[in-house]
Amino acid sequence: MEFNQFAVNDLMYITNRPPLVFTEGSGMWMTDHNGKRYLDYLQGWAVNALGHAPQCIQDALVAQSKKILNPSPAFYNAPSIELASLLTANSCFDRVFFANSGAEANEGAIKLARKWGKKNPNKAGQNRFEIITFDHSFHGRTLATMSASGKPGWDTIFAPQVPGFPKADLNDLASVESQINERTVAVMLEPVQGEGGVIPATREFMQGLRALTEKHNLLLIVDEVQSGMGRTGKLFAYQLSDITPDIMTLGKGIGGGVPLAALLAREDVACFEPGDQGGTYNGNPLMTAVGSAVLKTLLALGFMQSVNDKGAYLSAELLKLSAQYGLDGERGEGLLRALKLGKNIGPQIVDIARDMHPVGLLLNSPRPDLLRFMPALNVTVAEIDQMITMLSAVLDQVINHSAASKLA
Ligand SMILES: *Cc1c(COP(=O)(O)O)cnc(C)c1O
Repeated sequence: MEFNQFAVNDLMYITNRPPLVFTEGSGMWMTDHNGKRYLDYLQGWAVNALGHAPQCIQDALVAQSKKILNPSPAFYNAPSIELASLLTANSCFDRVFFANSGAEANEGAIKLARKWGKKNPNKAGQNRFEIITFDHSFHGRTLATMSASGKPGWDTIFAPQVPGFPKADLNDLASVESQINERTVAVMLEPVQGEGGVIPATREFMQGLRALTEKHNLLLIVDEVQSGMGRTGKLFAYQLSDITPDIMTLGKGIGGGVPLAALLAREDVACFEPGDQGGTYNGNPLMTAVGSAVLKTLLALGFMQSVNDKGAYLSAELLKLSAQYGLDGERGEGLLRALKLGKNIGPQIVDIARDMHPVGLLLNSPRPDLLRFMPALNVTVAEIDQMITMLSAVLDQVINHSAASKLA
């Protein structure tokens, strides 16, 4: 089928997409409508923790779809209880609320913090509701999570938006302290800023933040929608800095490709009352059965070690490329990494890599001077080698070509 036979204009225009329609995926590979294959380092935007269409997710979907799809959130169902138990047993949290997207989980975190701030007022007896968030952070696309995000202009595009999200600078404790006032209830951050360009919060900063929030009786909320579920080499990125946050949100990897997210809280913070929180699809057994299949795979003996090994290998290979082509190095944690290009050639590299023949390479450039890598957590060394080979062919073209044209 030709691309122009697809009625793509029946879809609402929300972003510029290449003229390709993807039809199949398996592991690290995707296939388009022409049958061309692509090595996929986006993986649904860090969503396919175990690659495209892994057997364990197919099995969970088939098995659960034969049992029950949705008894309604007014009743308990077994898969959601099992996944909640696995999450609480493997984290510092005691209670779980399931959601359908990262933004929705973050909305829940914001509501929970505001509820807690009502129950724990300031000295004057007033509600506390302000949540300090960070420049360049990303928390989602609902009205409140856009306001919470630190993307320039995002707090006003759909004005009037949700007030109460003063901004601080990542890895700058004094900037956080200066935003604390009698209305502050929480600090919320991504332990590794993902969309902002793979910028890890330092261990000292995370520990300082925990001490600061404890001193002022504030909640510490970690948005692990991107950094959680094994992505950084720990099951959750907050574990990299040995702290215990009060609230955590998960999304992306927890569903391994299906819409599933979660809001987790420690017992003394889990203060929702009946009617405060809910949702038609929240905690449905079809998605939570998939979540359990994904999490059990991550918890299997040796899996997280392999993520760390692959992360270290990818890091070393990217550093070699950087040295070879005079780039600016690399950064990240585990299998969430970025190559710093030093110049704004990211979008050009993405286009050329995708259009290579006979197979393409799918990359992401969250900022024009950066490439982000978010492979499946079970990516193989051979698939890393192949990506590096393909990327260096692109760099040959982009960098050596522009060097040659300068000489001419
Ligand atoms: C992707 C992302 C979100 C939003 O998740 P959606 O499922 O797209 O709503 C929120 N926070 C972070 C850190 C993310 O990376």
